[in-house]
Amino acid sequence: MNILVLNCGSSSVKYQMIEAGERKTLTRGSVERIGMSGATLTNLRHDGDEIRIAGEIVDHTQAIEYILAILLSKNHGVITDKGQIRAVGHRVVHGGETFSGSVLITDEVIKILRDNIELAPLHNPHNLRGISACEVSLPGIPQVAVFDTSFHLKMPKKAYLYGLPYSLYTQYKIRRYGFHGSSHRYVAERAAAMLSREPEALRLITCHLGNGCSMAAVDRGISVDTSMGFTPLEGLLMGTRCGDIDSSVILFVMGKEGLTLGEATTLLNKHSGLQGISGISSDMREIVSEMKNGDKKATYAFEVFTYRIKKYIGAYAAAMGGLDAVVFTGGIGENSVDIRTACCVGMEFFGISVDESLNSSAEKEKFISPAGARTPVLVIPTNEELVIAIDTMRIVTEKGPVSDR
Ligand code: ADP
Repeated sequence: MNILVLNCGSSSVKYQMIEAGERKTLTRGSVERIGMSGATLTNLRHDGDEIRIAGEIVDHTQAIEYILAILLSKNHGVITDKGQIRAVGHRVVHGGETFSGSVLITDEVIKILRDNIELAPLHNPHNLRGISACEVSLPGIPQVAVFDTSFHLKMPKKAYLYGLPYSLYTQYKIRRYGFHGSSHRYVAERAAAMLSREPEALRLITCHLGNGCSMAAVDRGISVDTSMGFTPLEGLLMGTRCGDIDSSVILFVMGKEGLTLGEATTLLNKHSGLQGISGISSDMREIVSEMKNGDKKATYAFEVFTYRIKKYIGAYAAAMGGLDAVVFTGGIGENSVDIRTACCVGMEFFGISVDESLNSSAEKEKFISPAGARTPVLVIPTNEELVIAIDTMRIVTEKGPVSDR
């Protein structure tokens, strides 16, 4: 069953056409610079055929039209008729407190997503634009929303409440939500399969380390705590985001430097993290390379990054009363041998250690702990699109909500 998976951002639409039953990606691509000069569509088909088209793409509706044209194209496409798309699955960033699983998109769902815009002003409006564009270009084809937040919605109140007046929670829904839910869910399920155990029997810590980074404590299949919070700013050090910080710091800096709210938001989200500490780059490859060249600030950035991951491993093992395995994923988690080693050094008391030959092997999905380790350490490439495609397939065939486990 062909599912078109869409991830609509402010000026980009990423897409994959997935044969969900066979778990096979037929083609993938992205439209970049929507509404700007020099917009492009890049498409890579499973057989290696690659095409890049430049054009004027003014909005998301036009972007979807370009995508459909390439999917249907004689030379580069994978379908011959729009009707071969059984459904569209959308990555939607924020489901608020309403959605604990993926849902068929109805007028009522769209209304709730609009109500949630305040919680994710940088993301949900674009997700909604993508949904409207598909209503126009693919009329009658069902659409499903898969939320970044829903996997974490079962975490207990003690994990999601902040130490603020309770009225701020009831009035403005200020609480921890957590993000990267599809990724944490996917790797937790894959880890259980690799360990030949039921997810319900495992206490896992999943580390999604990309440009944005988050960790989750997945206790018997349920995310009971996660490091991102009300927004994706909290928790680990990230490419350009500060992660955990004493909130007074920002009030202090705003006062000292006369920053507006917008400037303060930019400082925390765009000029902090690896970039902010190193002054070199938000890209972990450059941080590692400069650290190896002896750059002090790159070394500080690397050390803050890995130290914080170790602290969260300790915290989440305590939260779950034990630990059965640790999983690394995301661009950094999947590729950086140095980061994985540094996160596991000195953690033998948890049963965590790394076998360096396994760690540096070319395998993508693998165990990196020595055979027989008390707490296995795994690397699992994430596949959020597959999660979206499979949820979408289930919903349009069962016609019922799919709840996260
Ligand atoms: P996003 O969060 O935008 O999806 P990714 O998951 O692709 O991002 O991760 C991007 C990060 O992965 C960047 O910091 C990049 O430096 C890092 N990365 C990719 N390959 C490597 C590598 N071989 N070593 C270290 N970091 C890497």
